[in-house]
Amino acid sequence: MLDEYGRQATDLRVSLTDRCNLRCSYCMPPEGLDWLPKPEVLTDEEVLRLVRIGVERLGITEVRYTGGEPLLRRGLPGIIAGTAALEPRPEISLTTNGIGLARLAAPLREAGLDRVNVSLDTLDQEVFRRLAFRDRLPDVLDGLAAAAEAGLTPVKVNAVLMRGVNEDEAVPLLRFCLEHGYLLRFIEQMPLDAQHGWQRENMITADEIQERLAKEFALQPLPSAERGSAPAELFAVEGSTVGIIASVTRPFCGACDRVRLTADGQIRNCLFAREESNLRDALRGGAGDDELAERWVAAIRAKRAGHGIDDPSFLQPDRPMSAIGG
Ligand code: SAM
Repeated sequence: MLDEYGRQATDLRVSLTDRCNLRCSYCMPPEGLDWLPKPEVLTDEEVLRLVRIGVERLGITEVRYTGGEPLLRRGLPGIIAGTAALEPRPEISLTTNGIGLARLAAPLREAGLDRVNVSLDTLDQEVFRRLAFRDRLPDVLDGLAAAAEAGLTPVKVNAVLMRGVNEDEAVPLLRFCLEHGYLLRFIEQMPLDAQHGWQRENMITADEIQERLAKEFALQPLPSAERGSAPAELFAVEGSTVGIIASVTRPFCGACDRVRLTADGQIRNCLFAREESNLRDALRGGAGDDELAERWVAAIRAKRAGHGIDDPSFLQPDRPMSAIGG
């Protein structure tokens, strides 16, 4: 699946639900959102059919399940098992807040899950409660430990820093991850919250994160070849690595190999796309695999050169991150 700029989409992010059991303020308001009605959400069979088309016909080599919170999806082990049975077998990963992972890590590993990314923005229980509007830090930490124990490695940790909220956590988070053998990736806060409250001046930039870390750690930048199409700029640190995903201040759209399928069956060729391609209605209207594949290829061909956050005409997408699939 090539776009006009020669980029190939090989990494499929599938949102399995727009619901979440946290309310991280950079993502959604404390009262939650109007969730997608169940009939609009793809069934497990529909998800697996589209993933199969992506893998068998369109060159998808990596499938990441996300959301919302993917562990809330009851059929997740079956979806993972179905994905693992595809030929050629894709890499299968999960982005999760970790709540429930203590119970699910081993069965998901058994089903064929390869790796997890767990989101963790603070190690302070009170800050966690204020940031995510739920008192669930111990569950996340238990989930992380269970993931490592189950062999869902390397366990990666995603962290978003916000000014005046958790900006002091860069160093403690890295110390914690180094001690536990988790790979930490900081993500710059992006304008994808449902409340449209993102302000550039409140974003902790990649430069700031690097400066904060450099006060305590000797960071050695790794050559960009080691990054490939991965979004994180990597630094060697104490026998491990730390990454910074500078989506806003140092965009990496030129190397993007991602495509997204929302929980209601829309193909999005970019996190910030304002157009979607409706595979669900085509599928439910009786389209065959050839037609679905053609629609998907056409959606990729229309991918823009960049997300344009810095463009004066930039408009935040209608869907928030939780409904797109991060
Ligand atoms: N619930 C799962 C989780 O917490 O990882 C999966 C979905 S969540 C939308 C995926 C990732 O997106 C998380 O690491 C989260 O921190 C990140 N995220 C959400 N909103 C964001 C924003 N506005 N800017 C940057 N990252 C964001």
